[in-house]
Amino acid sequence: MKVIELINNSKKTAFSFEILPPLKGNSIQKVYNVIDKLLEFDPKYVNITSHHSENIYKTLPDHTIQRVNVRKRPGSVAIASAIQNKYKIPAIPHIICKGFTKDETEYALIDLNFLGVYNLLLLRGDIKTLEPTTDPNLYHNYATELQEQVNNFNRGIAVDGSAFEANETPFSYGMACYPEKHEEAPNMDSDIFYAKEKVRNGADYLVTQMFFDNQKYFDFVERLRSEGITIPIIPGVKPIVFQNQLTVLPRIFRSDIPEPLAGELRKCKNDDEAKAVGVEWGIQQCKELIAYGVPSIHFYSMMATESVRQIAKEIY
Ligand code: FAD
Repeated sequence: MKVIELINNSKKTAFSFEILPPLKGNSIQKVYNVIDKLLEFDPKYVNITSHHSENIYKTLPDHTIQRVNVRKRPGSVAIASAIQNKYKIPAIPHIICKGFTKDETEYALIDLNFLGVYNLLLLRGDIKTLEPTTDPNLYHNYATELQEQVNNFNRGIAVDGSAFEANETPFSYGMACYPEKHEEAPNMDSDIFYAKEKVRNGADYLVTQMFFDNQKYFDFVERLRSEGITIPIIPGVKPIVFQNQLTVLPRIFRSDIPEPLAGELRKCKNDDEAKAVGVEWGIQQCKELIAYGVPSIHFYSMMATESVRQIAKEIY
């Protein structure tokens, strides 16, 4: 079933979360352990993040330094399929276009179709640790270009322009949006213009970047509604688990930490205390989102499975 149908058919606010593929060489059991902890809250679907390869520097025994290109967390496609088979829950692999050629994406789509994984989240991908790849013949620059490739694939048009028999079940997908503006967007109007493009070209729903101040989300949703966007705008919630996230999250994700939360975090003496503050904030944040009528809440559960569990216990 499509994610949009699962959300629309859900009698209460739907629950979903995302997991990271294990570090290269580690067991998939790490993924199952996360899901097992959250299964009781009836996740409607589970997202699997995707990560391009990056250059790292290794010190060799003779003390020289070698640059190597590694994909630290491979396996999103295989993990999605394994989750669907084991738990019978739709798994949503993130498809990113930065660091992956158009051909590689096409092969991933072919594999996903064979595996019966038809729901995707289409993204540009993080570029902070990416070696610049600018050849427009090989790579897409923006998520909307990746979206065009997926739409073409659904119509039976390959990257090289050749035709094939379109798949019986087309891919459906969500895309990202930013209540506090994407860091590279010159202004909010520009960001909203591209969010509208994503919707106009077929995104079923948008998922937000993490935010901690619900008012920013409410204002953003109202702005998008006034621009004619009617699809679900799913809030992304991240429980704070480390005290240093007070400064790390605004720097990396450009998400403001409201002063009442920042003040509580500043008082914490260790990460355990910060985690407790994060859970309490998450519970209140989610209760307010549910009262506002959000159709679904998406949890960024990376390194925060236990906190997500505690929040979900209070709100579901
Ligand atoms: P885009 O929509 O391409 O937007 C990027 C910037 O370009 C924005 O400023 C936008 O306004 C602008 N823009 C968009 N289209 C155009 C255009 N045609 N011309 C000019 N400017 C344009 N990253 C990962 O690497 N792996 C993941 O698994 C992952 N999962 C994520 C899940 C969610 C829910 C979210 C919100 C983010 C996730 N990210 C992930 C991070 C994401 O890849 C980054 O935020 C990235 O910088 C932007 O992705 P996007 O899909 O929003 O890009």
